[in-house]
Amino acid sequence: MEQKNIVKTINLIKEEVKKYNNSLMTNVSNSSKDPFKVLISCILSLRTRDETTDVITEKLFNKIKTPKQLANLNIKKLQEIIKPVNYYKTKAKTIKGISQLLYTKYNSKVPNNREELQKLKGIGPKTSAIVLTYGFSSKMEIPTDVHVHRLPNRLGWITTKTPEETESKLKKIIPNEYWQDINDSFVTFGKNICTPISPFCSTCVIKNYCKQVNIRSKR
Ligand code: SF4
Repeated sequence: MEQKNIVKTINLIKEEVKKYNNSLMTNVSNSSKDPFKVLISCILSLRTRDETTDVITEKLFNKIKTPKQLANLNIKKLQEIIKPVNYYKTKAKTIKGISQLLYTKYNSKVPNNREELQKLKGIGPKTSAIVLTYGFSSKMEIPTDVHVHRLPNRLGWITTKTPEETESKLKKIIPNEYWQDINDSFVTFGKNICTPISPFCSTCVIKNYCKQVNIRSKR
């Protein structure tokens, strides 16, 4: 697809998602501007509904504010606070471990580059890109989760197998000025319109620009 049509499609998506609630990460970022909170919330969000993650992140950050405080929180107490999120025991261990490292090795500061972030156990390409985009306002990443991976493949922009490959290919075809907002708008669009199963193609505002690749059933 020509770049002008890619840009047009992105702008249509951005306009369309204004009808819906902000994504979790946009809410956390807007409310705190705190990379540590973005990082912890991102880990808690894995396979958990945004509404639950939102509430639990706030509950946790009402009790702790710094990596030191989270590192010193009793593991049972931490598990009890975050229990509504899925895999809460594993996540409690992960966020406690990360907090300990941040406190002891990083002067309680979340690193502001992907290389250092991905040295922390439990942080991969997606989480590091989210922390940089939403915690540090970086314009150099395209955080790629399942929604950001799925949509451009359905549109026919790219043919990729993994989110990492998708991020790399998207950076080649999307102008840099759009990178920072891609995650926010594609996640909201993917949750409400281009859903994983049976997307709403008949009423979709970008259907004229979409090749509907690998769509088996639609509404
Ligand atoms: S037309 Fe269908 S597959 Fe294409 S973006 Fe819209 S909802 Fe997704």
